[in-house]
Amino acid sequence: MRIRVLGCSGGIGAGSRTTALLIDDDVLIDAGTGIGDLELVDIDSIRHVFLTHSHLDHIAGLPMLVDRIFDEHQEEPVTVYAREETLRAVQEHLFNDVIWPDFSRLPSAEKPMMRYCVCSPGDTVSIDHRDFYAVDVKHSVPSLGYTVKNSGRVFAVSGDTKTNETLWPVLNACEDLKVLVIEVSFPDEMEWLADVAGHYTPRTLTDDLKRLRHDPEIWLTGMKPGEESRIWEQVMKAAPEKNIQMLSRGTVLTV
Ligand SMILES: [Zn+2]
Repeated sequence: MRIRVLGCSGGIGAGSRTTALLIDDDVLIDAGTGIGDLELVDIDSIRHVFLTHSHLDHIAGLPMLVDRIFDEHQEEPVTVYAREETLRAVQEHLFNDVIWPDFSRLPSAEKPMMRYCVCSPGDTVSIDHRDFYAVDVKHSVPSLGYTVKNSGRVFAVSGDTKTNETLWPVLNACEDLKVLVIEVSFPDEMEWLADVAGHYTPRTLTDDLKRLRHDPEIWLTGMKPGEESRIWEQVMKAAPEKNIQMLSRGTVLTV
């Protein structure tokens, strides 16, 4: 399984793109502005989109993506998986025939080119050889993290979250956790804001990493633009013994 990082920033500017991870060539986890750099042929290969939550930096590219993929000759619709609350938000506020067409009813309600599929915490969606498992996390809106299992090996992504009691037991239960992509949005000086907004800081994240029984590659994501070096220094100081790296646009992970 190949994971291509199309975007991993908490904002735009100076070459930053917001969150989008391409799994092999057909599945996206989140659809932030990072998808805008894909070649047309690569966009057309995407058939499944898993959303972690409804915030704009994770869904900004979705309307344009569906518009591009839209093809009345396609046999199978593009499927968007997310929590019920996330799908409702996307339906009501994006694909509402005002901001963007309701592609779940085009070209017809009977045979639409986009369909929604509720994915609740604890659900597994199997696509070919990969099992996508949804994990409850703790953000300012209902959110999910995902583990993706392929031939026994596991890739995990936290989505947006602050400290929580749900993600770590799931990660610990994975027998072969190879790679963990986890968010850390704000530096320690902004812990009050991170708490209100539902994000990790270096201190809260490295505290929680002590609960992890495995030793996977850990990749940091979702940093606010301009804060990367300060966050990185604080993480390194707090957990120098961990196998931690900073994710960047274009990184390719193999699991
Ligand atoms: Zn968010």
